[in-house]
Amino acid sequence: MNDYPEYDDPITRPRYTGLPTFMRAPYTESLEDADIGLIGVPYDGGVTNRTGARHGPREIRNQSSLIRKMNQATGISPHELCRIRDIGDAWVQRPFTLEGSHREIEAFFRSVHEAGVIPLSAGGDHSITLPIFRAIAEAQPLGLVHFDAHCDTGDDYLGSRFHHGAPFKIAVDEGLLDPKRTIQIGIRGSLNDPDVWKFSHDSGMRVIYIEEYFEMGWKNVVEEARRIVGDGPTYVSFDVDALDPVFAPGTGTPEVGGYTTLEAQMMLRGLRGLDLVGGDVVEVSPPFDPSGNTALVGATMMFEILCLLAETVSRQAR
Ligand code: MN
Ligand code: MN
Repeated sequence: MNDYPEYDDPITRPRYTGLPTFMRAPYTESLEDADIGLIGVPYDGGVTNRTGARHGPREIRNQSSLIRKMNQATGISPHELCRIRDIGDAWVQRPFTLEGSHREIEAFFRSVHEAGVIPLSAGGDHSITLPIFRAIAEAQPLGLVHFDAHCDTGDDYLGSRFHHGAPFKIAVDEGLLDPKRTIQIGIRGSLNDPDVWKFSHDSGMRVIYIEEYFEMGWKNVVEEARRIVGDGPTYVSFDVDALDPVFAPGTGTPEVGGYTTLEAQMMLRGLRGLDLVGGDVVEVSPPFDPSGNTALVGATMMFEILCLLAETVSRQAR
């Protein structure tokens, strides 16, 4: 006889117990059981500086045990709205070649997409968003709400077009991302080349540098994001280096002078009602995160995106 019937639900069991799946969601390899798949992508072969994001998924899983079932601000209980499962890692069998690794990651996400499962991923470095787009954006180019200190629309670097500073240029080149429905929020940092993010501007992306962000305030930035992406299918990509390194020091390419965790949460909550088709949180690098706080921040942003996706799923089911 169970004295605490609520503990029949794995989500409400004491949070330090059990295997640490993402958000303590049930683990399954069967895609039929899932509406939203929480996925780790432990790959960081695309980083240009400090490595370690390959360890992100495991640490985010661990810290995500701290997250309870309901979003205090919005009242959304994602696990009650749809079937959320940890469907494991998009693991790479041959990690020593970048383009081959991307092909393996794409194949994993293609099977997820073909099963009708909405992917919410934890990276890994930001290069992983390109193979995710290749898998889920074939039918039509997606819109994008992109939180980052960097536009990630660079080109050739050290002999490769493929790295974590370039996924969104290649996604546009391949017809997977609609630059006119793309907004990039929080851009900053020192530069070697003043034109490094020229592609974003030339292709028509809305680039909100951090100075403009603080002029506008988060509410107006959210309004702008909603106006830019409109009603069409949209992806949310959250690079944890978008945040001030005070809040998220455990990342490969930190840039001081960012927004706070709470501002990021409020912006994400402001995206309710959009037609969201997936999301990711990338660039959490546990070797640079001795306190575990950056992984907790990553898990928290993942939960905010999960609440948005769960609402989208339940709206479509009606
Ligand atoms: Mn990035
Ligand atoms: Mn970045």
